[in-house]
Amino acid sequence: MPKSTDRLIVGNWKMHGFSAALAEISALATALAAGEPPRCIVVICPPATLLAEASRLGSMAGILTGGQDCHPALSGAHTGDLSAAMLKDAGASYVIVGHSERRADHGETSELVRAKAEAGLTAKLIPIVCVGETLAERDAGRAETIVLDQLDRSLPDDAAGRKVVVAYEPVWAIGTGRTPTDADIAAMHLAIRQYLVTRFGAAGQDLSILYGGSVKPANARTILAIANVDGALVGGASLLASDLTRIISAV
Ligand code: PEP
Repeated sequence: MPKSTDRLIVGNWKMHGFSAALAEISALATALAAGEPPRCIVVICPPATLLAEASRLGSMAGILTGGQDCHPALSGAHTGDLSAAMLKDAGASYVIVGHSERRADHGETSELVRAKAEAGLTAKLIPIVCVGETLAERDAGRAETIVLDQLDRSLPDDAAGRKVVVAYEPVWAIGTGRTPTDADIAAMHLAIRQYLVTRFGAAGQDLSILYGGSVKPANARTILAIANVDGALVGGASLLASDLTRIISAV
């Protein structure tokens, strides 16, 4: 089981990648083996169709895998859905819950996200709970209120004990090439840290807070050096092993 004190780089492939994309995991493994040992845990969240094979390939190189979503129930009549236990069975160690694309595309509420995170914990996966404001909310000066409210309602009560990862992903930065200023990232991550300590006590210091939203090889070093940024959730730049390797070596 990874320690929460380790830094994390998580690649979210979203709905990209056929079986040929597995070559990127092999290429990543080769690149990581050729360089210095990564100073972080590396996690790839491929489409569910590739999860089992990605897990098999990754396990030979110390690369972990995660699902991109799970159903809140352990099993049952839920056509088309996957349970957290199924992800675990396919080799996953993590599961992303509450990504803004799921909140927007599927109307997922924070209460549902919390139930999914709890299902992940029950299946012994580490949930990566995503939160983030829209541009309109930021422009209205409500970014922090929105993010802390999402956290309040999305995080399970037993998130302490280092079993949950938080990912701050401003919706307007995802896939757009735009990022908040370093000062804005620092301010939000500090606010999240203070919230976690208030809610979970000292254990809140140990929960990892990832930044996500247009992290690229060119900006990774700067973003990862910001206080309370414990790693990154990377979308587009995780699809090519060459880009992801550069982000990993920026840790
Ligand atoms: C994401 O999908 O969580 C994400 C941050 O995407 P991108 O890096 O492409 O902005």
